[in-house]
Amino acid sequence: MNYEITLKKSICLIIIFGGFILFFLWPVIFSPFVLSALASPAAVTQPYFISSAAGGFDESTIAVLIDRKKYLSEIILSGAGIICITPAGEKINGSFVSFMDKEKKSSFTFAGEVKIIPCASGGYELINLVRVKDYIACVLISELASGDYQTWRSLAVLVRTMVYKEIIDRSCDSSEARHPGAADFLICARTHCASYRGVLSKHLYFKALKAAKGTENIILTHGGRPVYSLYSSACGGKIVRAQIIYHALSGCEYFEDKTCHCPKGLPAWKNIYDGKKLSRLFGYSVRDIETSDNPYYIVINKKIRYTFDEFISRIEKSGLTRLKSPFFKVSRGGDGAFFVIEGVGLGHCAGLCIEGARAMSKAGADFKKILNYYYKSCILKSVDL
Ligand SMILES: [Zn+2]
Ligand SMILES: [Zn+2]
Repeated sequence: MNYEITLKKSICLIIIFGGFILFFLWPVIFSPFVLSALASPAAVTQPYFISSAAGGFDESTIAVLIDRKKYLSEIILSGAGIICITPAGEKINGSFVSFMDKEKKSSFTFAGEVKIIPCASGGYELINLVRVKDYIACVLISELASGDYQTWRSLAVLVRTMVYKEIIDRSCDSSEARHPGAADFLICARTHCASYRGVLSKHLYFKALKAAKGTENIILTHGGRPVYSLYSSACGGKIVRAQIIYHALSGCEYFEDKTCHCPKGLPAWKNIYDGKKLSRLFGYSVRDIETSDNPYYIVINKKIRYTFDEFISRIEKSGLTRLKSPFFKVSRGGDGAFFVIEGVGLGHCAGLCIEGARAMSKAGADFKKILNYYYKSCILKSVDL
């Protein structure tokens, strides 16, 4: 009896003592596993990213949210999560999906698979499951109707870097991700992530695919982390530090103010906004529009400030012509009834300038030299997930 009591006491003591040790030492015991899981996003298979068993990062599959408003008239929902393409759509060779736009004027082709996923709200999303290399090729042909090989290769690296960064951010720091709460897709098809409209032309697609393959699995890094990918069509001769336009990028010292190799002052553009329409859009009387330099804001009536993105998203929703760049002068016309906006450049004018990259390429620079010019002290790195 005494022996039994002593044994029970010993077991209790072991359990209490063991629990005590575990309680205080668990961060030390378990942290290496927690850290390694966080540091390796591939360890978690997600609907938005399917790692390729072989072939590297470019062979992996990502989920892209495509704009259903453009295409869905020809697609009907048939059962939960089952895609059904009406007769206007067809599967080509099992690896492309093609269907008509809303007006039935042109057809759109997407590499990989297209899925309809019902949302909790009752609607549904159109998701394209596409290999990274096909996605890169399609973004290239959406951004560059024509281009030389080195410019396309530069852009291919930046697009891949954006994709890679999104996967890392989603797994490790979702506050940095572009679509942090999205379970079914990684990135969208709008310029918010990168302009993506599928295989617009088979000829260009194969050309762009060659540029993607020419930089296979390579991303641009700084301090061991993928850079924040930014590029614009033409800066008008002067690249602006990205953090001036995008205030959250304050730590990215690889962006610089610098002269560009593209034609100075081009392209020049002009928008005319009706004052009354603008006032209705903003919900108050718009009397004055100007810009502040550093940090950059669009300032209305000398006191209400909007970032470049805030301002253009309002303008876009209204159906008014969008601002083509952050750099413009404003004057009044029609006895004050109109705002005349005269600007230079196409895009946000930060990061890589595509026109400038073309000029560098023409002068003999390869994609490494081009990227090094626009992203100071950054390193190219081959990745896999
Ligand atoms: Zn997006
Ligand atoms: Zn430029």
